[in-house]
Amino acid sequence: MVKKFKISDFHKRIISKKTLFKALTYIDKNPDLETPILLIDREKLIQNVKSMGNLIPNSRVFYAVKANSDIELLKILKNMGVGFEIASSGELDLLKKLKVPPDKIITSNPVKSPDFIQSLYKYGVKYFVFDSISEIEKLEKWAPGCFGYVRITVPNEGSEWPLSKKFGVELDMAFNLIKRANELKIISPVGVTFHVGSQCLNPYNWYIAIDKAKRLFDMCFDAGIKMKILNIGGGYPISYTKIAPNIREIEEKISSYLAEKFNDHIEIFIEPGRAIVGDAGIMVSKIIGTAKRDHENWIYLDVGIFNGLMEAIGGIKYLYIFEQTNPLKEKHNKESFFDRYKKWTIAGPSCDSMDVIEKNVYIDADPKSGQLVLIPSAGAYTLSYASEFNGFPIPKIEIL
Ligand SMILES: *Cc1c(COP(=O)(O)O)cnc(C)c1O
Repeated sequence: MVKKFKISDFHKRIISKKTLFKALTYIDKNPDLETPILLIDREKLIQNVKSMGNLIPNSRVFYAVKANSDIELLKILKNMGVGFEIASSGELDLLKKLKVPPDKIITSNPVKSPDFIQSLYKYGVKYFVFDSISEIEKLEKWAPGCFGYVRITVPNEGSEWPLSKKFGVELDMAFNLIKRANELKIISPVGVTFHVGSQCLNPYNWYIAIDKAKRLFDMCFDAGIKMKILNIGGGYPISYTKIAPNIREIEEKISSYLAEKFNDHIEIFIEPGRAIVGDAGIMVSKIIGTAKRDHENWIYLDVGIFNGLMEAIGGIKYLYIFEQTNPLKEKHNKESFFDRYKKWTIAGPSCDSMDVIEKNVYIDADPKSGQLVLIPSAGAYTLSYASEFNGFPIPKIEIL
């Protein structure tokens, strides 16, 4: 039996029609599909990789492995010649398994364990970030001869998943750290990095960040230290429930800011995670039950906060496409919004009260236990966050 879903014109603007079609075809061919499962559209993934960095002259792309570290997915990226940004020995082990050469690996985690630094160094990785004296001392000891870049703080306003509070330093401190590294002559300070916040819907963040980085470049230049690399981190957004600027639109902005601020020749590193895999993935989930509690309508899915949709607690709002098992009701023009749409709370399967994905979701459908629900743009920060809490499985992944 071919399954039908309530797909609206708006859905088709959020998600690529080809990606959706591929997932629907797969679902039809697999009537006994075990859910939850993350379906990845290989072509969309490849298309994202190909667009990344295109409009930024002299740039290199390092995929942030934490967004989705599935080994088959990493293999596809490796074969396309993409570099990787990693933060742990576990991520390094994955890349070693794939024989990713060390010059394709950087680490932008400002606080690294000595073990991690040593394994990177032994493998031949050259680029390391720092934002503290303590980190410089570790690099001096365990990664002599490495190239270092300093992480500065930049505004994360308007990013739906801010990252600014944990890492980074202000310009004076950053300058002191670079001078310190330079004096040691064991670490060559070569650049500056920042992160504008993940799912950054405010391009002005890049403007402020690039301007701030340029001031640090100038301070260093005046002190006789020539910086060569600007690592602009990640943050490129994807469309969840709002239409976000695409890679080209973001890069048009970034490249104009770069051209305005930097007239000299520098190399740009980009570390995208979300915008490489996010919109290539559709989570297929199943309704395991519905309930009415007081005046609230509840839907329980087999995927929730703990086994895949962790970002929902930080404010990422997903789109839900419901299977339609009843014949589609005719639309009556006179019907009001509130006749057609009912308000639902969408929850995950576990017994923890934190496991509520979203409240006040208006749904024009009649959700029933056993129906499938598609959750588009779920390729990034889902599986990599997932746990088997309460015995609920981590979604499988299938690259189509
Ligand atoms: C998480 C992270 C990224 C990737 O960010 P996205 O918003 O997914 O593009 C890049 N660089 C660093 C240092 C990160 O921590």
